[in-house]
Amino acid sequence: MPETTAPDSTVAALREIVGPKGILTGDDMAGYLTDWRGRSTGTAQCVVMPASTDEVSKVVSYCSRQGLPLYVQGGNTSLCGGSVPGKAGGDILLSTRRLNAVRDVDPIGNLAIVETGLVLANLHEIAEKHDRIFPMHLGSEGTAQIGGLISTNSGGVSAVRYGPMRDLVVGLEVVLPDGSVISRLSGLKKDNRGFDWKHLFIGGEGTLGIVTAAALQLHTKMTARADALVSVPSPAQATEVFRGVRDRFDTRLMACELVSGNEVSLTLEHVPGLRFPMAEVPEWMVLIELGDTENEEVLRDTLQDCLAAMFEDGTITDAVVCQNLRESEELWKWRHSFSETNKKAGHGIVFDASLRVKSVPEFIERAIPAALDLAPWAVPLIVCHLGDGNAHLIVMTLNEDRPKITDLDDLTHRMFERVHDIIAELDGSFSAEHGIGRKLVDEMVLRQPAAEIALMRAIKAAVDPKGIMSPGILLGKNA
Ligand SMILES: Cc1cc2nc3c(=O)[nH]c(=O)nc-3n(C[C@H](O)[C@H](O)[C@H](O)COP(=O)(O)OP(=O)(O)OC[C@H]3O[C@@H](n4cnc5c(N)ncnc54)[C@H](O)[C@@H]3O)c2cc1C
Repeated sequence: MPETTAPDSTVAALREIVGPKGILTGDDMAGYLTDWRGRSTGTAQCVVMPASTDEVSKVVSYCSRQGLPLYVQGGNTSLCGGSVPGKAGGDILLSTRRLNAVRDVDPIGNLAIVETGLVLANLHEIAEKHDRIFPMHLGSEGTAQIGGLISTNSGGVSAVRYGPMRDLVVGLEVVLPDGSVISRLSGLKKDNRGFDWKHLFIGGEGTLGIVTAAALQLHTKMTARADALVSVPSPAQATEVFRGVRDRFDTRLMACELVSGNEVSLTLEHVPGLRFPMAEVPEWMVLIELGDTENEEVLRDTLQDCLAAMFEDGTITDAVVCQNLRESEELWKWRHSFSETNKKAGHGIVFDASLRVKSVPEFIERAIPAALDLAPWAVPLIVCHLGDGNAHLIVMTLNEDRPKITDLDDLTHRMFERVHDIIAELDGSFSAEHGIGRKLVDEMVLRQPAAEIALMRAIKAAVDPKGIMSPGILLGKNA
């Protein structure tokens, strides 16, 4: 039986562990209790911010003894509401923001061993200082932390070349729900000592423990870069562009993104100072990034030739190849502004479909009319990491049309049902890179086979028998 304690003594006990700088209460917690999109708000007794693995372990031990629900938060940029506590009021929210030391960088082994509160952009800078790269790039990189990226198994635009976080994690240190610490941070490429348990925590969304440090795979820095924007008549042609550049450039293909013109127009409208390199925004376009360790001019010329052939055979209708780094950066600046734009522009019902690349056009063709059937006023935006088959459909109700939604929960529910059915018919997944969080728990329990859910719940029960870690996230209340 848990010891029972009054809330004040809980805060006092946690303050004793982390010191006065490591705890927030009352109004000071406000920035931590609502998710990035402003769609989930919870309450907590306090936000506790340990500065070392030892402090995390003591905090978790305390919560375990008391039976206190414990949620973990990194940069709080989750798009699925997994980073905020529940509404009951008794939860503890652990923020990893002070857990951000760089423990080691090994340029020979191409490894960085860092604590998980480190912000992704800071890791980029650290890698750069050692003439390496950490190849994870997404719009939230100035805020998202390594722990959040691992726990949601983030993808981003470079997954086509380097894979999602799962492919970039070599080892982990984790505080388990009873406060004990397990660690494999040696950075070994080969290690067959039983189950490779790190995979339970990659994509675990804080439900099995707190990831406190990670050995991460760095990569060789590219010295040559070539970027292009091409317009295509349709998503089907975009898959041909992907096939063409993948076959021509193989591992030199760093990113291949399909975007609908309405998303770009909305972004140019909402974010000042962006430059679009074509005279008009096309209906469909593909962004391509290549990287190499050889000559940049040769790379750019080869890309130009490859695109010229596609223009000749009608696969593409226009192309702009960036001539320098400034033009390349301008191109990716508006690409990375989409989530920010969509937050400002209205309410988007967002889909994070994972599909075979060849099924992406059919998904777009079927999902858009299915969604518009339920919300005819909406603008269907497509942002697709085409090279890894990850299509985001954002069914956007612009601010001025917001009154047309009479029951948002009901609309969302019905749209999930329709669009997720299409994804299932295409043998895809309704969660590619954002996780499940609170947003997709019902879908998870409803759509995944019972035996699979039972297996996940059995793992959860074995690792977290008291059910204190992020209750309600990923597997629902019965986990
Ligand atoms: C503008 C924008 C653009 C984005 N673009 C992309 C994109 O292109 N690709 C993509 O994959 N995602 C994208 N995302 C979402 C992405 O999931 C997050 O940015 C990132 O992965 C979350 O990191 P975070 O530190 O903010 O985690 P949080 O939001 O704080 O947490 C996310 C989840 O991880 C858990 N967690 C956090 N830290 C730990 C830890 N140390 N141990 C255990 N559990 C933990 C939390 O409990 C929660 O369940 C975007 C988000 C935004 C706001």
